[in-house]
Amino acid sequence: MLSVKEAESIILNLAQSPDSQRDVETVDLLAASGRILAAPVTSSLDFPYWDNSAMDGYAVRFADVENCSAEKPAVLEVVEEIPAGYLPQITVQRGWAARIFTGAMMPDGADTVVMQEETRREGDRIFVLVAPEKPQAFVRHKGAFYQAETTLMDRGTAINAPEIAVLATAQCIKVPVYKRVRVAIFSTGDELVSPDKPLSPGKLVDSNQYALSVLLAQMGCEPIRLGIIPDREDALQKAIAQAVSTADVVLSTGGVSVGDYDYVEKILADLGGKIHIQAVAIKPGKPLTVAQFKRGETKSDVPISSSDCLYFGLPGNPVSALVCCWRFVVPALRKMSGLGPDAWGPEFVKARCNVELRSIGKRETYVWGKLHLVAGVWEFEPASGSQNSANLINLANTTGLAVLPAAETWIPPGEFVEVLKVTH
Ligand code: AMP
Ligand code: MG
Repeated sequence: MLSVKEAESIILNLAQSPDSQRDVETVDLLAASGRILAAPVTSSLDFPYWDNSAMDGYAVRFADVENCSAEKPAVLEVVEEIPAGYLPQITVQRGWAARIFTGAMMPDGADTVVMQEETRREGDRIFVLVAPEKPQAFVRHKGAFYQAETTLMDRGTAINAPEIAVLATAQCIKVPVYKRVRVAIFSTGDELVSPDKPLSPGKLVDSNQYALSVLLAQMGCEPIRLGIIPDREDALQKAIAQAVSTADVVLSTGGVSVGDYDYVEKILADLGGKIHIQAVAIKPGKPLTVAQFKRGETKSDVPISSSDCLYFGLPGNPVSALVCCWRFVVPALRKMSGLGPDAWGPEFVKARCNVELRSIGKRETYVWGKLHLVAGVWEFEPASGSQNSANLINLANTTGLAVLPAAETWIPPGEFVEVLKVTH
């Protein structure tokens, strides 16, 4: 059986970064939120756009004020008032000043701003009481923060509120982003009913499809929900063929164990998928199955549309399915979304656990619970109640998964353990 590390590396190799030509679309700035930049962005605008004042005060010529003091103030004539947003009309000459406010455009002729607090006003005249330290004092220069036509933002940047602010400022209103990764999701099992349907005896609600759709949507992927597929070979074959032909990634849950109705692996092989992973030494999540369908090589009626398709046959148990997603699927999707290796994750922190942690050994064991930062130290608190993969009720509020290495069966209270940060 593969170790978690081996499985991780196989999966990350199978997951391909998007193509910077084929997998790109241009969207409006607001629609770019949550997307990944597919090309470096430049702007034709400098920033600041023009020289402007960093203070409320007076725009002056440095030469007029460089030797002034409270005893020997420079006396200047105020020839214009320039509020923010106005184009100055007058070129400042020797002995002149323009009243100016923070952010307002510098007038021609002036090279320095003196603070209002260091002046005294009498009618149309000001007395400058303190000499500025140097020419250009309190002037924000055009292009000082960003020079037009240089790289404003790199490919691979995740676009959120701060990036939207930068792009808006630079008037980049059309943004090249990677296409969303299309992820088909379906659940397998004759026992399943959707949450809004009556529950007859022996049935079980399909929570996986809802949980996975939300996780994918939060990651900026495009979930394609294909519903609940019964445990019949023909129905499953049809669903898998359809999923593989329409999506970049497929997540199915259930049907990957060794039960009589667990057909997924056989069908994947029948359809021409190359099976790379059949089981992983992880608890929960052992039956994880991963296959790859190469473009043009599928045996389904419908050819795969654009790129290879990566198939994750996740275990049916809701906790196992989510743990496999957090540990293996999310990093693969981050890579496929266009993020750089630093952002693939998962992110681990060392956290102190004040209770003992136990496992049966042999498999790397993931214990779900909460991460807290206490006085600068991470602490991990396992979810109370049964840590059993069929119990999803205590999954609520999960923010971390503590990892017991495969060889360890017991970690005493107070020890530091690796905890995978669950991001939402
Ligand atoms: P399987 O791998 O198909 O044998 O599924 C293992 C167990 O997970 C089943 O016995 C169900 O209890 C549970 N299960 C399977 N699929 C789902 C689902 N979509 N939502 C919730 N529980 C599920
Ligand atoms: Mg099943």
